[in-house]
Amino acid sequence: MNWTAPFDVFNPEGKTAIVIVCDHASNALPGEVGCLGVAEGDMQRHIAWDIGAAPIARHLARIFDAPAVLSGTSRLVIDCNRKLHDPSLIPSMSDGIIIPANEGLSPGQRQKRIDAYFNPYHAACRQVITSRCRKGERPLFLSVHSMTDHMDGTHRPWEISLSSNEDRRATAPVLAALSEVPGLVVGDNQPYDMDPTQDYSTPEHALSRGLDYLQVEFRQDLVAEAKGQERYAHIFAEAVKRSGILTP
Ligand SMILES: [Zn+2]
Repeated sequence: MNWTAPFDVFNPEGKTAIVIVCDHASNALPGEVGCLGVAEGDMQRHIAWDIGAAPIARHLARIFDAPAVLSGTSRLVIDCNRKLHDPSLIPSMSDGIIIPANEGLSPGQRQKRIDAYFNPYHAACRQVITSRCRKGERPLFLSVHSMTDHMDGTHRPWEISLSSNEDRRATAPVLAALSEVPGLVVGDNQPYDMDPTQDYSTPEHALSRGLDYLQVEFRQDLVAEAKGQERYAHIFAEAVKRSGILTP
């Protein structure tokens, strides 16, 4: 994927009170970082982006008629869901792969990446949410991710997982609706919870404003191809609709 911009806003005029974000939508590398010293094959893996997450975010934007803000930069350049002081913001190692170009960056070089990629993406998220709040909306914040199917030699059974902290206003009803889907294996804070000390996007854009949120992970082997992306987007969207959280 060629790098074009730090973010993309899809369906900006969407009418539903939902704002979708996709922090790890892209594996694109801006020209100035070169290849980061990472092999091309590794740039296609989950360490560089959330496989399938961007098409799912766009499907959800179409299904709900909502805007979606997608990051345009690989998380190996900067991880848009990490706090600025977090060592994994600009990782020098990810799932056993060394990222040579990220080792020993000066504070100035780190700040350049924050200013060029992280800040514009989050400013776009903030702008979309703020403009809706000004109209009196209380949009649902929907953060779309995908997760690898194997971690540390263990297979992950969950097809769709929701990550939350103690604020489960939206999460609990949607989990209940997902549990009604025959045969679907659903994760509740597995493999990850939503940790306000680690995650950036949901605390920054939803918790800080008291907005309801959903943070969802789709298992990447199921959504790597177009058919699976569409299928799982629909399974999830139907559950959100059935949950009743969208009815005021
Ligand atoms: Zn992610």
